[in-house]
Amino acid sequence: MFLPIVPGNEAAKRFFGRAVILERVSHSYLLVGPDAAASKLFARELAKVFYCAESRACGSCSACASIEHSNHPNVNFFGPPAGKSVVDIDTVRGFCERTHYRSNGLQIAILEHADQMNEPAANALLKTLEEPLGSALLILLVQSTGSLLSTIVSRCHRVYLRGGDDVRSVLSGSAKEAIEEVLSPHFFARCESRGWLGRAFPDEDGVRTAVRKLLAELVEDWRARIHGQEGCELDPVLRCLEALIELRQDLDRNVSPELVLERIWRVLRHGA
Ligand SMILES: [Zn+2]
Repeated sequence: MFLPIVPGNEAAKRFFGRAVILERVSHSYLLVGPDAAASKLFARELAKVFYCAESRACGSCSACASIEHSNHPNVNFFGPPAGKSVVDIDTVRGFCERTHYRSNGLQIAILEHADQMNEPAANALLKTLEEPLGSALLILLVQSTGSLLSTIVSRCHRVYLRGGDDVRSVLSGSAKEAIEEVLSPHFFARCESRGWLGRAFPDEDGVRTAVRKLLAELVEDWRARIHGQEGCELDPVLRCLEALIELRQDLDRNVSPELVLERIWRVLRHGA
Protein backbone atom coordinates (compact mmCIF):
# COMPACT_ATOMS: atom_id res chain seq x y z
CA MET A 1 0.00 0.00 0.00
CA PHE A 2 3.02 2.26 0.34
CA LEU A 3 6.00 2.85 -1.94
CA PRO A 4 4.98 -0.14 -4.05
CA ILE A 5 7.75 -0.05 -6.65
CA VAL A 6 10.76 0.22 -4.35
CA PRO A 7 12.11 -3.24 -3.59
CA GLY A 8 13.42 -4.12 -0.13
CA ASN A 9 13.85 -1.82 2.87
CA GLU A 10 10.56 -3.00 4.30
CA ALA A 11 11.35 -1.60 7.75
CA ALA A 12 11.97 1.91 6.39
CA LYS A 13 8.77 1.69 4.32
CA ARG A 14 6.76 0.67 7.36
CA PHE A 15 8.38 3.45 9.37
CA PHE A 16 7.37 6.14 6.88
CA GLY A 17 3.97 4.56 6.26
CA ARG A 18 3.26 4.78 9.95
CA ALA A 19 4.56 8.37 10.22
CA VAL A 20 2.30 9.46 7.35
CA ILE A 21 -0.79 7.69 8.70
CA LEU A 22 -0.27 9.07 12.21
CA GLU A 23 0.63 12.54 10.84
CA ARG A 24 3.96 12.39 12.61
CA VAL A 25 6.21 13.27 9.71
CA SER A 26 9.29 15.19 10.86
CA HIS A 27 10.73 18.21 9.07
CA SER A 28 14.08 16.67 8.34
CA TYR A 29 15.26 13.15 7.59
CA LEU A 30 18.66 11.69 7.02
CA LEU A 31 18.43 8.65 4.76
CA VAL A 32 21.58 6.62 5.33
CA GLY A 33 22.23 3.95 2.73
CA PRO A 34 25.19 2.42 0.93
CA ASP A 35 23.62 2.75 -2.55
CA ALA A 36 23.13 6.43 -3.53
CA ALA A 37 20.91 5.61 -6.51
CA ALA A 38 18.66 3.37 -4.41
CA SER A 39 18.37 6.07 -1.73
CA LYS A 40 17.35 8.62 -4.38
CA LEU A 41 14.71 6.24 -5.71
CA PHE A 42 13.40 5.73 -2.20
CA ALA A 43 13.24 9.50 -1.55
CA ARG A 44 11.45 10.08 -4.85
CA GLU A 45 8.83 7.45 -4.07
CA LEU A 46 8.42 8.89 -0.58
CA ALA A 47 7.79 12.36 -2.06
CA LYS A 48 5.08 10.91 -4.30
CA VAL A 49 3.12 9.73 -1.28
CA PHE A 50 2.50 13.34 -0.21
CA TYR A 51 1.07 14.48 -3.56
CA CYS A 52 -0.29 11.29 -5.13
CA ALA A 53 -4.01 11.43 -5.98
CA GLU A 54 -4.34 8.08 -4.16
CA SER A 55 -1.86 8.96 -1.36
CA ARG A 56 0.19 5.87 -2.08
CA ALA A 57 2.72 6.66 -4.80
CA CYS A 58 0.49 5.01 -7.39
CA GLY A 59 2.90 5.91 -10.18
CA SER A 60 0.15 6.74 -12.68
CA CYS A 61 -1.57 9.95 -11.49
CA SER A 62 -0.38 13.33 -12.78
CA ALA A 63 1.40 14.21 -9.50
CA CYS A 64 3.34 10.93 -9.46
CA ALA A 65 4.24 11.43 -13.13
CA SER A 66 5.55 14.96 -12.60
CA ILE A 67 7.64 13.88 -9.59
CA GLU A 68 8.96 10.99 -11.66
CA HIS A 69 10.02 13.46 -14.37
CA SER A 70 11.48 15.91 -11.81
CA ASN A 71 9.14 18.73 -12.79
CA HIS A 72 6.77 18.86 -9.83
CA PRO A 73 6.86 22.46 -8.47
CA ASN A 74 6.96 21.34 -4.81
CA VAL A 75 9.52 18.52 -5.04
CA ASN A 76 13.09 19.55 -5.78
CA PHE A 77 16.33 17.63 -5.96
CA PHE A 78 19.68 19.21 -5.18
CA GLY A 79 23.22 17.85 -5.28
CA PRO A 80 26.79 18.62 -6.32
CA PRO A 81 27.01 20.93 -9.38
CA ALA A 82 27.55 19.13 -12.71
CA GLY A 83 31.04 17.73 -12.98
CA LYS A 84 31.82 18.29 -9.31
CA SER A 85 31.69 16.01 -6.30
CA VAL A 86 31.38 18.59 -3.53
CA VAL A 87 28.08 20.09 -2.40
CA ASP A 88 28.76 23.84 -2.16
CA ILE A 89 27.07 26.66 -0.28
CA ASP A 90 25.07 27.87 -3.31
CA THR A 91 23.51 24.42 -3.64
CA VAL A 92 22.64 24.35 0.04
CA ARG A 93 21.17 27.86 -0.15
CA GLY A 94 18.92 26.72 -2.97
CA PHE A 95 17.95 23.68 -0.93
CA CYS A 96 17.24 25.77 2.18
CA GLU A 97 15.21 28.34 0.26
CA ARG A 98 12.53 25.74 -0.25
CA THR A 99 11.70 26.08 3.45
CA HIS A 100 10.52 29.66 2.83
CA TYR A 101 7.93 28.83 0.15
CA ARG A 102 5.27 28.42 2.79
CA SER A 103 2.24 29.70 0.90
CA ASN A 104 2.36 26.92 -1.68
CA GLY A 105 1.84 23.94 0.64
CA LEU A 106 4.39 21.32 1.61
CA GLN A 107 7.75 21.80 -0.03
CA ILE A 108 9.99 18.77 -0.31
CA ALA A 109 13.70 19.32 -0.89
CA ILE A 110 16.00 16.35 -1.36
CA LEU A 111 19.78 16.84 -1.09
CA GLU A 112 21.82 14.07 -2.69
CA HIS A 113 25.35 13.33 -1.50
CA ALA A 114 24.84 15.48 1.59
CA ASP A 115 27.92 13.81 3.09
CA GLN A 116 29.95 15.67 0.43
CA MET A 117 29.07 19.15 1.76
CA ASN A 118 32.00 21.47 2.33
CA GLU A 119 32.22 23.41 5.59
CA PRO A 120 30.41 26.63 4.52
CA ALA A 121 27.62 24.51 3.02
CA ALA A 122 27.28 22.44 6.19
CA ASN A 123 27.11 25.57 8.35
CA ALA A 124 24.43 27.10 6.11
CA LEU A 125 22.38 23.91 6.35
CA LEU A 126 22.79 23.80 10.11
CA LYS A 127 21.40 27.33 10.39
CA THR A 128 18.28 26.28 8.46
CA LEU A 129 17.81 23.18 10.59
CA GLU A 130 17.96 25.33 13.72
CA GLU A 131 15.05 27.48 12.53
CA PRO A 132 11.39 26.45 12.49
CA LEU A 133 10.92 24.82 9.11
CA GLY A 134 7.22 25.53 8.56
CA SER A 135 5.70 23.31 5.91
CA ALA A 136 8.93 21.97 4.49
CA LEU A 137 10.29 18.46 4.39
CA LEU A 138 14.05 18.25 3.98
CA ILE A 139 15.58 14.91 3.07
CA LEU A 140 19.34 14.44 3.15
CA LEU A 141 20.79 11.42 1.36
CA VAL A 142 24.11 10.11 2.64
CA GLN A 143 26.12 6.92 2.40
CA SER A 144 27.36 7.37 5.95
CA THR A 145 27.07 9.96 8.69
CA GLY A 146 30.79 9.95 9.49
CA SER A 147 31.71 13.17 7.69
CA LEU A 148 28.62 15.16 8.72
CA LEU A 149 28.58 17.67 11.56
CA SER A 150 27.20 15.91 14.61
CA THR A 151 24.87 18.88 15.09
CA ILE A 152 23.31 18.19 11.67
CA VAL A 153 22.94 14.49 12.42
CA SER A 154 21.27 15.20 15.75
CA ARG A 155 18.73 17.55 14.18
CA CYS A 156 17.54 15.03 11.61
CA HIS A 157 15.61 11.83 12.05
CA ARG A 158 17.89 9.08 10.82
CA VAL A 159 16.51 6.23 8.74
CA TYR A 160 18.78 3.43 7.59
CA LEU A 161 18.24 1.92 4.18
CA ARG A 162 19.46 -1.58 3.56
CA GLY A 163 18.14 -4.99 2.73
CA GLY A 164 17.07 -7.47 5.39
CA ASP A 165 15.57 -6.68 8.75
CA ASP A 166 17.17 -9.47 10.73
CA VAL A 167 19.72 -8.21 13.18
CA ARG A 168 22.07 -11.04 12.29
CA SER A 169 21.94 -10.34 8.55
CA VAL A 170 23.85 -7.07 8.98
CA LEU A 171 26.61 -8.46 11.14
CA SER A 172 29.63 -9.51 9.23
CA GLY A 173 31.64 -12.73 9.42
CA SER A 174 32.96 -13.51 12.84
CA ALA A 175 30.70 -11.03 14.63
CA LYS A 176 27.64 -12.71 13.12
CA GLU A 177 28.78 -16.07 14.41
CA ALA A 178 29.50 -14.44 17.75
CA ILE A 179 25.92 -13.29 18.17
CA GLU A 180 24.62 -16.75 17.24
CA GLU A 181 26.88 -18.20 19.86
CA VAL A 182 25.84 -15.72 22.55
CA LEU A 183 22.18 -16.39 21.80
CA SER A 184 22.53 -20.15 22.15
CA PRO A 185 21.21 -21.74 25.36
CA HIS A 186 23.54 -22.24 28.31
CA PHE A 187 26.24 -20.18 26.68
CA PHE A 188 27.95 -19.24 29.91
CA ALA A 189 27.60 -22.71 31.36
CA ARG A 190 29.81 -24.28 28.73
CA CYS A 191 31.89 -21.47 27.37
CA GLU A 192 34.76 -19.51 28.73
CA SER A 193 33.94 -15.97 27.69
CA ARG A 194 37.48 -14.66 27.29
CA GLY A 195 38.41 -17.46 24.90
CA TRP A 196 35.17 -17.07 23.00
CA LEU A 197 35.75 -13.32 22.51
CA GLY A 198 39.24 -14.00 21.22
CA ARG A 199 37.80 -16.34 18.59
CA ALA A 200 34.89 -14.05 17.72
CA PHE A 201 37.01 -10.91 17.34
CA PRO A 202 40.47 -12.23 16.48
CA ASP A 203 41.78 -8.83 15.37
CA GLU A 204 40.85 -6.96 18.51
CA ASP A 205 43.46 -6.17 21.09
CA GLY A 206 42.12 -7.16 24.48
CA VAL A 207 38.82 -8.28 25.94
CA ARG A 208 37.56 -4.75 26.65
CA THR A 209 38.07 -3.66 23.02
CA ALA A 210 36.34 -6.80 21.75
CA VAL A 211 33.33 -6.27 24.03
CA ARG A 212 33.17 -2.62 22.98
CA LYS A 213 33.07 -3.67 19.32
CA LEU A 214 30.37 -6.22 20.02
CA LEU A 215 28.31 -3.57 21.83
CA ALA A 216 28.79 -1.02 19.04
CA GLU A 217 27.41 -3.51 16.49
CA LEU A 218 24.52 -4.48 18.71
CA VAL A 219 23.52 -0.88 19.45
CA GLU A 220 23.59 -0.03 15.74
CA ASP A 221 21.47 -3.06 14.90
CA TRP A 222 18.93 -2.47 17.64
CA ARG A 223 18.53 1.10 16.37
CA ALA A 224 17.80 -0.28 12.92
CA ARG A 225 15.28 -2.66 14.47
CA ILE A 226 13.29 0.25 15.89
CA HIS A 227 12.31 1.25 12.37
CA GLY A 228 10.82 -2.18 11.82
CA GLN A 229 8.68 -2.24 14.96
CA GLU A 230 5.21 -0.90 15.46
CA GLY A 231 3.04 0.08 18.41
CA CYS A 232 3.42 -1.98 21.56
CA GLU A 233 6.16 -4.12 20.01
CA LEU A 234 8.41 -1.09 20.14
CA ASP A 235 8.73 -0.95 23.93
CA PRO A 236 10.78 -4.15 24.43
CA VAL A 237 13.11 -3.15 21.59
CA LEU A 238 13.62 0.32 23.09
CA ARG A 239 14.30 -1.19 26.52
CA CYS A 240 16.89 -3.54 25.03
CA LEU A 241 18.54 -0.65 23.21
CA GLU A 242 18.59 1.40 26.40
CA ALA A 243 20.13 -1.49 28.30
CA LEU A 244 22.82 -1.98 25.64
CA ILE A 245 23.69 1.74 25.70
CA GLU A 246 23.94 1.61 29.49
CA LEU A 247 26.26 -1.37 29.25
CA ARG A 248 28.45 0.56 26.84
CA GLN A 249 28.66 3.34 29.44
CA ASP A 250 29.48 0.75 32.12
CA LEU A 251 32.34 -0.49 29.98
CA ASP A 252 33.65 3.06 29.61
CA ARG A 253 33.42 3.39 33.41
CA ASN A 254 35.79 0.45 33.79
CA VAL A 255 33.28 -2.23 34.76
CA SER A 256 34.88 -5.61 34.04
CA PRO A 257 34.37 -6.59 30.37
CA GLU A 258 33.51 -10.16 31.39
CA LEU A 259 30.72 -8.87 33.60
CA VAL A 260 29.46 -6.60 30.81
CA LEU A 261 29.51 -9.55 28.41
CA GLU A 262 27.44 -11.63 30.80
CA ARG A 263 24.91 -8.80 31.08
CA ILE A 264 24.78 -8.47 27.28
CA TRP A 265 23.93 -12.15 27.14
CA ARG A 266 21.10 -11.70 29.65
CA VAL A 267 19.66 -8.75 27.70
CA LEU A 268 19.76 -10.71 24.43
CA ARG A 269 18.35 -13.89 25.93
CA HIS A 270 15.74 -12.51 28.29
CA GLY A 271 15.16 -8.86 27.29
CA ALA A 272 15.97 -5.82 29.38
ZN1 LIG B 1 -0.09 8.82 -7.73
